[in-house]
Amino acid sequence: MNISNLIRPSIKALDPYSTARDECGENRPEIFLDANESPYDNGINRYPDPRQKQLKAKIAEIKGIYSDQLFLGNGSDEAIDLMYRIFATPGQDNAVLMAPSYGMYEVAAGMNDVAVRKVRLKEDFSLDVDGMLSATDSRTRLMFVCSPNNPTGNSFPQEDIEKLLRDFGGVVVLDEAYIDFSNRGSLVPLIEKYPNLVVLQTLSKAWGMAGLRIGLAIAMPEIVATMNKVKYPYNINILAQKMALTKLDEDAKDRRVAEIIGDRFRVEKALAECPKVQKIYPSDSNFILVKVTDPEGLYAKLLQNGIIVRNRSQVKGCEGCLRITIGTPFENDRLLDVLGVGPGKDRNGVERLGERHVRLTRKTKETSVSLELDLDKGGISEISTGLDFFDHMLEQIPHHGGVSLRVKVEGDLQVDDHHTIEDTGIALGEAINAALGDKMGIARYGFVLPMDDCDAAVLMDFGGRTEFQWKAEFHREKVGDMSTEMFMHFFQSVCTGAKCNLHIEARGGNEHHKAEAIFKGFARTLRMAAAKNEFPYEIPSSKGIL
Ligand SMILES: *Cc1c(COP(=O)(O)O)cnc(C)c1O
Repeated sequence: MNISNLIRPSIKALDPYSTARDECGENRPEIFLDANESPYDNGINRYPDPRQKQLKAKIAEIKGIYSDQLFLGNGSDEAIDLMYRIFATPGQDNAVLMAPSYGMYEVAAGMNDVAVRKVRLKEDFSLDVDGMLSATDSRTRLMFVCSPNNPTGNSFPQEDIEKLLRDFGGVVVLDEAYIDFSNRGSLVPLIEKYPNLVVLQTLSKAWGMAGLRIGLAIAMPEIVATMNKVKYPYNINILAQKMALTKLDEDAKDRRVAEIIGDRFRVEKALAECPKVQKIYPSDSNFILVKVTDPEGLYAKLLQNGIIVRNRSQVKGCEGCLRITIGTPFENDRLLDVLGVGPGKDRNGVERLGERHVRLTRKTKETSVSLELDLDKGGISEISTGLDFFDHMLEQIPHHGGVSLRVKVEGDLQVDDHHTIEDTGIALGEAINAALGDKMGIARYGFVLPMDDCDAAVLMDFGGRTEFQWKAEFHREKVGDMSTEMFMHFFQSVCTGAKCNLHIEARGGNEHHKAEAIFKGFARTLRMAAAKNEFPYEIPSSKGIL
């Protein structure tokens, strides 16, 4: 197959805009007087690299391809639009789409005055390969296949796609936006075998960079070169290029994907218990398509509870369906709660996820605190209270305490920081108390004396009483965005919630360091006090009870 014959003649003949820096060859100028930019460096005064060399090299390495097989666009949407512009003559050619699928294929066709022929998926959402092929005619230039498919969530076997690639004489665009969540491997290696294959991927989903707008098209160099010729010269801005380079951490991506898939199984299981749910379609992605008895009503109810899902009930083939993206475990719990199938909780509203691993949500008129604490496994620190300095302090707890801590607070910060900090303290205390459980085998006391120009002593005793002592003075009203008077209130709240004796004393000149010393001290002390001692079945009290 000769790809060159598929490209519109006017595009083949196009003489692309040549950017100022395209023409300097191998010379490396130091003074740039060519592009009418501002000479004053502010990080963004220069045009971005139109060929995105550095970013492409990194992505190509991750994907195991060559840079000249990779196109980067302003989202996958740019690549979709370019497919029509390059291969389909407006008003004459057509494209074959599967349905239901991603809406942009049809919108982009409309923008380019290209007719579409839609072929319905079969009842079980499998691909109607013969139907797709017989929908083509001599003016069909493009075929779009989305696998895993949005909104159905399923993916298609490689044979199906290879049959289309072999038997259709035009370009097959395979959208793999959700491939990182899929059990099936990417079909990117097939570009070597089928020059008419264009694979779309994106940084928007598994990579967590939807805000940057970077989409990938992977194909043989001739198609990529043509895409580069037709795109706007500076289609990826300088901040997006830089930021993407810093965020392309494969291990972190893989961990997130595993976590999302893990929680997807949990959500699927819980949803199956919901009387309103009629069918859960098998998902190979980070969302689930769910058929429910009253989609409009359920959609409205979720929205009233602050949760938005995608209502697909009006889409042909998805009648009665909502598409639900898998969020964080907290967010998924909120969803399940509204549907009446939330996780089981003890009478204090604490959900036990493991032996000393708990999750709780604490809601008042002023705040909503979601908190997860695992005393035996460190490594997770996800803290967002809306107060930067408070976040920084709370991060000391997982960091120095060897525990995992997730905290998400939505509080009335427009009033002040009081409720947010106090309620977080209570929730953290309650979580510690609940996680300690029967207190079998824990060390009862802990203390520490750190650090820098300040020192802090934190004494803790899980003896069951709640004596709180505080000897630390702060001389500024605020550190960062946090009121210094709230340091004491926070630990008082922790003390109440955790039902422990807590004595804190700190001295020193620098207020930031003093606060940090207290939080670090608290974390170290918690680590010692909660550690299981060498007599795991002994309650550390001569009375035999705590
Ligand atoms: C989300 C999504 C994309 C990604 O679009 P971007 O423009 O890259 O954010 C592409 N295809 C499908 C099917 C999607 O659902």
